[in-house]
Amino acid sequence: MTNLIRENIRNLKPYSSARDEYEDTSLIMLDANESPFGAPANRYPDPYQKELKEEISKLKDINPGNIFLGNGSDEAIDLLIRVFCEPGVDNVIIPQPTYGMYQVCADINNVKVKSVLLDDRFDIDIDAIKESIDVNTKLIFLCSPNNPTSNLLSKDRIRSLMNDFSGIVVLDEAYIDFSMDQSMLPELNQSNNLVILQTFSKAWEMAGVRLGMAFGSNEIIDIMNKVKYPYNINKLTSSFALNKLRDGKKEVCDNISIILNERDKLIQQLNQLDAVNKVYPSDSNFLLVKFNDSNKVFQDYIQVYVDSTNSLEFDQISSEEFSH
Ligand SMILES: *Cc1c(COP(=O)(O)O)cnc(C)c1O
Repeated sequence: MTNLIRENIRNLKPYSSARDEYEDTSLIMLDANESPFGAPANRYPDPYQKELKEEISKLKDINPGNIFLGNGSDEAIDLLIRVFCEPGVDNVIIPQPTYGMYQVCADINNVKVKSVLLDDRFDIDIDAIKESIDVNTKLIFLCSPNNPTSNLLSKDRIRSLMNDFSGIVVLDEAYIDFSMDQSMLPELNQSNNLVILQTFSKAWEMAGVRLGMAFGSNEIIDIMNKVKYPYNINKLTSSFALNKLRDGKKEVCDNISIILNERDKLIQQLNQLDAVNKVYPSDSNFLLVKFNDSNKVFQDYIQVYVDSTNSLEFDQISSEEFSH
C-alpha cells in the first residue's frame, strides 16, 4: 500500500494547525489569532470533525478512523488522485459512460485517463479493464448505481477487480440509498484496496451543504487527512448535517420512499409516450430513457421551458427553483 502513495505525499510533513496541538477546548486559546467576539463562529472548526464522524459511525456501523469527510465527495475524488497518481506518469481507469468528475479531476492533475466501455448491459467489462491495467495504473473508478445509466454494477465483478488489481478500487455509491441492494461497506474490513464514496447530496437532501464521505483503511484515510485543507468542513456544514442526522433520519427514509414511488409512476407514464423507445431499469433517483428522436424531444422541451419561464416573474422562478 505504502508504495502506491506518491513519494512527496508519503514524505509530507502536514500543516500543523492550532487545533491539532491542543484538543482541550475548555482552555482559553490564543494561539490561532481568532477573535474573542462572535461566538460560536469565531473559532476554527475541528479539523477532523470528531462529533460528526461519531454520528456517521453509528449510522454506517464503521469506525470513525475509517471515515474521511470532504467538501462534497468531489473533494475525495480529487484527493485520491493527488495522493496516488504522479502527474504525467500514472494513470487511472474509468469505465464509460459514467460521472464526469473522475475525468475532470484527473485532467486537472495531468493524470492520464484510460477509458473502457461498460458492456452491453452497462456492467463492468472485466476483460477489457484487466487488459488496460499497466504498472502505472493506480486507481479504477467504479460507480454503482452508475450515473448516468442508473444500474448497479455486479458485486462479483467489483470483487474480482479488488482481488486482482494491485492499485485502489474507488467505488462511488452516491445513489446507494435509492437501491434495493446493500452497500459494500461491510466488505471494507476484508480488503485494504477498496475506497467507498458516499454523499449527503442526494438521498440525504443536502446538496447545498457540501458534505461527502470516503470510507477506507486507516492508512488511506490518514493520508487523505494529511493532504486535505486543515479546516475543509466548516461549522455551518457540520451543525446542519448533525441536526439532520440526529433528527431527520425518519423523514429522509420516508422521502426516499416517496421518490421511488414517484419514479415508478414516471416510468409508467413515459412508457405510454410514442416518443419513448425504452426506459431502462433504475436503482437510483433518476432514469435513463432512450427516445426515438432525442434531439427533437430536447428542442421541444427547451421550447416549453422557455415559454413557461417567460410567463413567470423572475422572482417566482428563482424562489421556486430554490425551494425544489
Ligand atoms: C451527485 C454525485 C456525487 C455527489 O458529489 P458531491 O460532491 O458529494 O455533491 C458523487 N458521485 C456521483 C456519481 C454523483 O452522481
